[in-house]
Amino acid sequence: MTYNITVLDGDGIGPEICEGAVTVLRAVGKKFGHEFIITHMPIGGRAIDEEGTPLPEKTLKSCLASDSVLLGAVGGPKWDNLSGDARPEAGLLAIRKEMGLFTNIRPAKLWKNLAETSPLKSELVKGGVEITIVRELTGGIYFGRREKGFDEEGREFASDTEKYTREEIERVAKVACELAMKKKKKIISVDKANVLESSRLWRRVVHEYVSENFPEIDVEDMFIDNCAMQIVKNPARFDVVLTSNIFGDILSDEAAEVTGSIGMLASSSLGETKRGLYEPIHGSAPDIAGKDEANPIATILAAGMMLRDSFSLTAEHAAIEAAVQKVLDDGYRTADIMSEGMKKIGCKKMYGLIAHNIER
Ligand code: NAD
Repeated sequence: MTYNITVLDGDGIGPEICEGAVTVLRAVGKKFGHEFIITHMPIGGRAIDEEGTPLPEKTLKSCLASDSVLLGAVGGPKWDNLSGDARPEAGLLAIRKEMGLFTNIRPAKLWKNLAETSPLKSELVKGGVEITIVRELTGGIYFGRREKGFDEEGREFASDTEKYTREEIERVAKVACELAMKKKKKIISVDKANVLESSRLWRRVVHEYVSENFPEIDVEDMFIDNCAMQIVKNPARFDVVLTSNIFGDILSDEAAEVTGSIGMLASSSLGETKRGLYEPIHGSAPDIAGKDEANPIATILAAGMMLRDSFSLTAEHAAIEAAVQKVLDDGYRTADIMSEGMKKIGCKKMYGLIAHNIER
C-alpha cells in the first residue's frame, strides 16, 4: 500500500526528531512492503521566516491532501516577542481547527526497564502502566459562553460555561470505542455527574452510545476527583479513559508525569476522517536543538500511532513498539532518560538502532 504523509518538522529539535520518525517509517515500509510518500512542509517559526505566516496556505493544502500528518514541535526564543496570531504556536491552533480535529489521544506508557523514571514507588508501577486518555478537544468550558463584569449589587464577577451536546459526546465516544476495540475493550468514562448537569448528560450519552454501537465494550464510570487519585494510587488499573476537554487536560498531564519522561510520550488529534495529526507532547527544546541530544522516541511513537489509528496497520504499530522496547532492554538511553549503568547515545544513534531492530 502507498500512504501520503505530510511532515511538519517545525523548529528547534523538530527537524532532528522528525528525521528519526521518517527513518523508522522507511524501515517499516521495507519490512512490511508499504510505500510512505513523505512531503515536508514549513510550520511555526520556520514558516514565519520563510513565508511570513505560521501556517502557510501551501502547508495547509498539503495536510488536507495527505492521508495523515506528523508534526515535530514549534516555537523558540527567536519568535518569543511576536504576539497572538503572529506567534509560531498560532500555526498549531490553526492547523488543528482547519483539519477539524475534535479528539485528542494521549497514551502515557511506562516502559519496561524505565520504571526508575517514574516518581511513583516501584511496587505501584512494576507491573507496567499504559493509560490512554481520550479527551474531547473542541467543546466544553474552554469554548463555552464567557461573561465578566459587575452584577446588580456591584460585585465584580467572571463566569465560564460547560456545555456539551449529544453529538459532541457521541463523536468522541466513537473514537474511544474504536481504540478500545484494538485494546482491552474497556473504557473508564470520567465525569462529575454527582454535581454537574453537563456530566449527567455525558454519562447517559456515553452509555447509550456504547451499548447501541459497541455492546462488547465494558464502560466503567469514575468521578474526576477519584480518577485523579487512582492514577497515582493504582495506575495499572487504567487502559482507555474517555473524558471532557477540561478533565482530559488535567488528567493527561498527571498520567504523563506518572511515566516520567517527556521525551517518550506521543499524542494524536483526530476528527471525522481517518486523517490525524500526530506529534510528541514535548516542545521544540531550543536548549538542545542541533546538538544530537534529543530523544526521538516520542515522535517515533507518534508515527506508530499514525500507522495504527489512521492506516489500521496494527502489526506495524506493534513492530515499532517492540523495537523501542528492545533498544531500552539493550540498555541504550538518550540523556533525558539516562540512568546508572546504561549506555548513553545521541538522537541519530537512537533512531538508527530502532530502525535496525525493525528491519532485522
Ligand atoms: P520543551 O518541551 O520544549 O522543553 C522542556 C524541557 O524538556 C527542556 O529542558 C528540553 O530540553 C527537554 N526536552 C523536551 N523534549 C525533549 C526530547 N525529545 N528529548 C530530550 N529532552 C527534551 O518545553 P519549553 O522549554 O517550555 O518550550 C520550548 C519551546 O517549545 C517554546 O517556544 C514553546 O512555546 C514550544 N512548545 C511547543 C509545543 C508544540 O509544538 N506542541 C509544545 C510545548 C512547547
